[in-house]
Amino acid sequence: MNNNIIDVLVVGAGPSGTALAIDLVRRGLNIRIIDKAAKSFDGSRAKGVQPRTLEVLQDLGALKDVLAAGCDYPLLGIHIGPLTIPWRMMSTDKPKSDIPFPNTLLIPQFRTDAALHACLNELGKQVEFDTQLIEISQDNDAATAILSAPEGTETVTARYVVGADGGSSAIRQKLGIAFTGSTHEEDRMIIVDAVTTGLSRKRWHIWPGSSGQFIAACPLPNSELFQWMIRLSPEEQPKLDLPDLNERIQKRLRSSKVLMHSIRWKSVFRPNIRLAEQYRVGRIFLAGDAAHVHTPAGAQGLNTGIQDAYNLCGFHGHLATHSMSI
Ligand SMILES: Cc1cc2nc3c(=O)[nH]c(=O)nc-3n(C[C@H](O)[C@H](O)[C@H](O)COP(=O)(O)OP(=O)(O)OC[C@H]3O[C@@H](n4cnc5c(N)ncnc54)[C@H](O)[C@@H]3O)c2cc1C
Repeated sequence: MNNNIIDVLVVGAGPSGTALAIDLVRRGLNIRIIDKAAKSFDGSRAKGVQPRTLEVLQDLGALKDVLAAGCDYPLLGIHIGPLTIPWRMMSTDKPKSDIPFPNTLLIPQFRTDAALHACLNELGKQVEFDTQLIEISQDNDAATAILSAPEGTETVTARYVVGADGGSSAIRQKLGIAFTGSTHEEDRMIIVDAVTTGLSRKRWHIWPGSSGQFIAACPLPNSELFQWMIRLSPEEQPKLDLPDLNERIQKRLRSSKVLMHSIRWKSVFRPNIRLAEQYRVGRIFLAGDAAHVHTPAGAQGLNTGIQDAYNLCGFHGHLATHSMSI
């Protein structure tokens, strides 16, 4: 038996992998968590954290930072010509004993990730950034991963490996697990986090357009940023430079007052709706986007990812109890 074996190698330090790492470390397991990126992800992507996820974050010890960095969702302001119609997208409720955090929290993903990473650091564990899984294999006793980092390659043996490595999961592909579903090229959107002036921060603004070509701007709490969503027409080549974006929004909003200044993050998003045909092969598991991807509607991605991690480690006790007993 290899004495250098660790309990769990977590691949990917997004919300799913980091939540899992926290839960494993606090149960006393010997783990590593790696991410191929040089640093935490910069964008606002998943900005709706749901009541059950808030309960999970409370149990993991990350809730205080998450609540401090977020806020309740503002009313929508639906702009139709000169009119602005206020609209509450989500009902709000008072806390009850069985639902302590009844309202979905508005918080950009980079702040949720930061709160999770800080919580992990407090437990004495750091994410190993700049470290990519390049190969994986397994036998009855363990899984073996080859990692590539600036210092060179390394072989790691772990009782279990969890692929929380996102929608294009290398682990899922190396295991040959099909990712069944569809990609909606026709629903592409520009997503931009930008310091913006000339818009009220009391509303999540939406300007509906013909054939669903809407523009939306959501104020991100504790910042001067708005998350802009600009739906593209099917064949359009997106222009992502600041002057092009400003020209586009000012023309659509019929206002030269509204101005994006510095851009923090930008991306072109196309909805994927896919499900892995298996969540586990032997000692290797998938979690989060590696296992399932969704449209942005309903805030399913980050929320189901964190809940996968919590269920995998805690509720079913798979990784925690099995690792201890082997
Ligand atoms: C525009 C947009 C809006 C969204 N809105 C919402 C929303 O409102 N609510 C919601 O819940 N979700 C939303 N999502 C989805 C949400 O962002 C994802 O579901 C969430 O980030 C998934 O977390 P994850 O940890 O599973 O994967 P990721 O966050 O993708 O993390 C995977 C990590 O794995 C690392 N990695 C990949 N391959 C390797 C490798 N070989 N070796 C080492 N590391 C590797 C990556 O660098 C990455 O850091 C949105 C997504 C987008 C794009």
